[in-house]
Amino acid sequence: MEFINEKYLDELITNKYFGDKNLQLSIIEKAKLGKGLSLKDSAILLNIIDDEILIELYKTAKEIKENIYGNRLVMFAPLYLTNACVNNCLYCAFRMDNKEIIRKTLTLEEVESEAFQLIKDGHKRLLLVCGEHPKESNLPYVGNAIERIYNLDYKGNNIRRVNVNIAPLTTDEFKILHSFEIGTYQIFQETYHYNTYSIMHPSGPKKDYTFRLHAPERAFEAGIDDLGIGVLFGLTDYKFELLALLSHAEYLDKTLGVGPHTISIPRLEPAQNAPAAQQPPHAVDDSSFKKIVAIIRLAVPYTGIILSTREKPELRRELFNVGVSQISAGSKTSPGAYKNDTGNKFGQFQLGDHRELHEVVEDVCNLGYMPSFCTACYRSGRTGDRFMKLAKSGKIGEICTPNALATFKEYLLDFANGKDLSRVEKTLMEQIENLPDKEKKITKKMVEELKKGERDIYF
Ligand code: SAM
Ligand code: SF4
Repeated sequence: MEFINEKYLDELITNKYFGDKNLQLSIIEKAKLGKGLSLKDSAILLNIIDDEILIELYKTAKEIKENIYGNRLVMFAPLYLTNACVNNCLYCAFRMDNKEIIRKTLTLEEVESEAFQLIKDGHKRLLLVCGEHPKESNLPYVGNAIERIYNLDYKGNNIRRVNVNIAPLTTDEFKILHSFEIGTYQIFQETYHYNTYSIMHPSGPKKDYTFRLHAPERAFEAGIDDLGIGVLFGLTDYKFELLALLSHAEYLDKTLGVGPHTISIPRLEPAQNAPAAQQPPHAVDDSSFKKIVAIIRLAVPYTGIILSTREKPELRRELFNVGVSQISAGSKTSPGAYKNDTGNKFGQFQLGDHRELHEVVEDVCNLGYMPSFCTACYRSGRTGDRFMKLAKSGKIGEICTPNALATFKEYLLDFANGKDLSRVEKTLMEQIENLPDKEKKITKKMVEELKKGERDIYF
């Protein structure tokens, strides 16, 4: 944990000179170069209270996101395999001591039917999630589940990327996970504050702070080079958590040569029989949360920021504007809930956004964003440092925009049935017309092939 220097982070948080408005503005100006920020710079931005400077911060976050990722918002959904868990995280309904939840582990047939339902909704990317349990969610089971998911096909539509958020593994186990052809391996430290971590994780293997903290390096050593990190906001002071998260990103970039592919920003939601979730010890209000997202965008411009359906639609709309690049949509957090909605009896926590995928797609388009179901980078070997080079040089958009538009067109061709998405279709065509010549030509060709019945076209 040498790179999480609590004393240094506390000094940065309490430095009274960081309230200087000119200093804050000069850092926002520097961030416009898109080269990221030091920890000290980020700490200074955390002290912004002046409304005009906040507006400048948000405007810059939006510009940086659009320079690197354009107006794309990548869509995905989580798929929960099991809610069985041997840990006791005080914020989670899956914790072992919660006797009120009904435990369920999906059979492989149920995994298929859940994933099939998501394919029929129009999804192409899944995030596999499960509790930690040596019997219920062991590696062979996870591997079998992934294999079944990749093998599904619905009229040329399928799941093309399975990202995974499971408990940390040893390097040898990560090698096995890598062999299942996963996309990103995600792991949230939950809280970087050592004492808070110990209180929140009273028993089970997750008690081990250090084993969790170093999981990304072990995964990398095992060959998994797209890594996602995150904090569960609400457990301790958000300023500390944000600076620690950025220290982690900096450390990974320096030691592995690749920073985190994604940063997730879950915020504590109410969860059944989970004391820390009923009354978050350091609840983060919406405006601080927005500031957190914008600072992440300025500090690590090349990283994807993931926003889940934990948040309500109104706030999600605001956060798209300050740097979010990936969102979940139409999510359920109980094993089996896509086929048979089971309400709260099996769920991990309460959601804020209950809309179906097509409603989110329409909303996102109306706001001027382009929904993307693209999985091309990972399937064309553009992962790890190869992806980062393209993202850092700003070239990723040239590849992503045509691929994103093509997958969006594919979605409209196959999943608009019975839904009036004509306005959305019109937006798509306008976006194609507005592209630079080279990209326009490529995209139009892909769209023509899709109309003829081709599927899964990318480059
Ligand atoms: N069980 C594995 C683990 O803990 O690493 C896999 C991930 S867990 C099922 C998914 C994530 O949900 C956790 O890492 C945590 O950040 C988040 N989570 C748990 N309880 C939550 C709550 N009450 N509100 C919001 N997010 C929560
Ligand atoms: Fe289990 Fe993960 Fe929930 Fe903790 S957060 S109780 S490890 S499922």
